[in-house]
Amino acid sequence: MADIIQLLPDHVANQIAAGEVVQRPASVVKELLENAIDAKATSITLVIKDAGKTLVQVTDNGIGMSVTDARLSFERHATSKIKSAEDLFNLHTKGFRGEALASIAAIAHVELKTKTEDSEIGTHLAIEGSKVISQDPAVVPKGTTISVKNLFYNIPARRNFLKSNPVETRHIIDEFHRVALAHPNVAFQMLHNGSDVFNLPASNSRQRIVNIFGSKTNEKLVPVSEETEILKIEGFVLKPEFGKKSRGEQFFFVNDRFIKSPYLHHAVSAAFEGLMKNDVHPGYFLFLDVDPHSIDINIHPTKTEIKFDDEHSIYAMLRATVKHSLGQFNIAPVLDFERDKGFDTPYEYSKKSPTAPSIEVDRDFNPFKEKTKQGNINFPFKREQSASWESLYVGLKDETEAVSVSNLEDIEFESEEVTGSLFENTETESGQLTFQLQNKYIVSPLKNGMMIIHQNLAHQRILYEELLKNITVKEAVSQQLLFPLQLHFSKPDLEIIEKVREQLEHTGFIFSEIKDETIEISGIPVLILESHVVNLLSQLVRDIKEEVPDSGFSQNDMLAKSMAASMAIKTGVSLNREEREHLINQLFACKEPSVSPRNKLVFTTMDVSDLDKKFM
Ligand code: ADP
Ligand code: MG
Repeated sequence: MADIIQLLPDHVANQIAAGEVVQRPASVVKELLENAIDAKATSITLVIKDAGKTLVQVTDNGIGMSVTDARLSFERHATSKIKSAEDLFNLHTKGFRGEALASIAAIAHVELKTKTEDSEIGTHLAIEGSKVISQDPAVVPKGTTISVKNLFYNIPARRNFLKSNPVETRHIIDEFHRVALAHPNVAFQMLHNGSDVFNLPASNSRQRIVNIFGSKTNEKLVPVSEETEILKIEGFVLKPEFGKKSRGEQFFFVNDRFIKSPYLHHAVSAAFEGLMKNDVHPGYFLFLDVDPHSIDINIHPTKTEIKFDDEHSIYAMLRATVKHSLGQFNIAPVLDFERDKGFDTPYEYSKKSPTAPSIEVDRDFNPFKEKTKQGNINFPFKREQSASWESLYVGLKDETEAVSVSNLEDIEFESEEVTGSLFENTETESGQLTFQLQNKYIVSPLKNGMMIIHQNLAHQRILYEELLKNITVKEAVSQQLLFPLQLHFSKPDLEIIEKVREQLEHTGFIFSEIKDETIEISGIPVLILESHVVNLLSQLVRDIKEEVPDSGFSQNDMLAKSMAASMAIKTGVSLNREEREHLINQLFACKEPSVSPRNKLVFTTMDVSDLDKKFM
């Protein structure tokens, strides 16, 4: 056979790489803002047109680039920020992959104007679809302006995939917030279609938060501060009474980089335990500083996840620090740091605070939950915080108010952030109106249409969050087996199980013996049936082999994913009314109901207007 392998031309490779880096205009905003920060700018201006679809432009007064660097900056893997692999573990910059500009230039019309401090004259460069169209000397101030026009002009499919302008603008503002919050000492400006959206002078952290989220925020903030050998924590949490039904202002920054971390989020939530109702989430702006050697930020292309070497200590410290701050500022009574779940009883707010205590009886009490406690096989675990339909969708309105975007009033939210009451009335809660399709989907009517839920994926999400909680907080219960189970595994497989033994025990497994090629199990999680144990463990071993998690949280995460997938009710299982309703309630009590642990869509909605179109 003739040789058939060819190297992809650069512009094609760049276009493919661009898919990872640039999903939407907001991705461009993030990369350009971060580059400006890395260039030590003290003032940064973001200009967008048509939600960034027509133009994203960032101007900074940073160090600028020489003529050669200007051209090189658009090459793939061209970076001034790292020189060797070791540098990856000592990062002090946002960027390091040298991919952003190359990717952006592959899928847009890009113009660059830049000048360094000591050169007389700057340079002006135009690029289209990875090709340099022109490079000329130009009279420009010190710093850099990059304009990205007509994003995805050469990939119509991607362009069509973009959401409405208000949604894309929302994403841009989110990215802008993240960078602006992390760098209060840098002045930021944002303009959309010619009008001012934000004008943030250089200031301190508190002032920056207030400038972004409005003057009312000031009195809601409780300062948090702690420094130990491995970790420095600074920032603010919102007083418990300002918690929200949907997740609103929740920001973690690690070494000035915005990150998402369900694990750290859990630590903060745990500190608030007993101070807020179950279905309310705390708000926070927390800045963590750790030794760059102790984290690995290299695991996600868009870099909002990181791995910590010692995440258990960080978890404990974060929780204790936030608890302490809440105590210190009279938000909570003096706290006992040793106790894991110390706040079960309602407490009195200090005399100063006239607001009502936030602890209330469970108004969402659901008689079906009792049933499940008696051992319903399909839904064998209990969750205290089952939210009613109403409570799910009210309260989201304050979200929109909190953001000061007066001239962007038409901003709309994506499905997970829908405003207003989606459901017609509480009748839905009775479950009468739901039905099952093909023993696979649960259909539930909504105010303007219907919601279709994938039963297996929904249950995976529910179990995943529960398991992850059990693994990290270690509070699961086991069911003792009358006759211990003897299972046989190969030596290497047993070693794998041995490695995750501790975590498995946190979910409720009791291993009385692991030796040679046999494992003896005398207790299993209440969530599963004895007959499922073999499958679950074998699948787990397979998943671990495939994913090779290193340590800590990512391992817990994958453990929970694997177990959830094994345990979830399968397609083909018929569910009665109560079970359907229970599943829906549990799903919407989850933190991320809309995606499965492996990032698949859990439910979709269909409007009557969508249906109407079919009958035209
Ligand atoms: P990375 O940020 O990962 O290094 P980029 O593709 O974002 O990769 O940028 C490539 C290089 O271009 C950077 O390493 C930097 O040297 C230079 N650069 C990009 N933006 C700017 C800017 N605003 N000011 C100065 N230099 C910049
Ligand atoms: Mg960069």
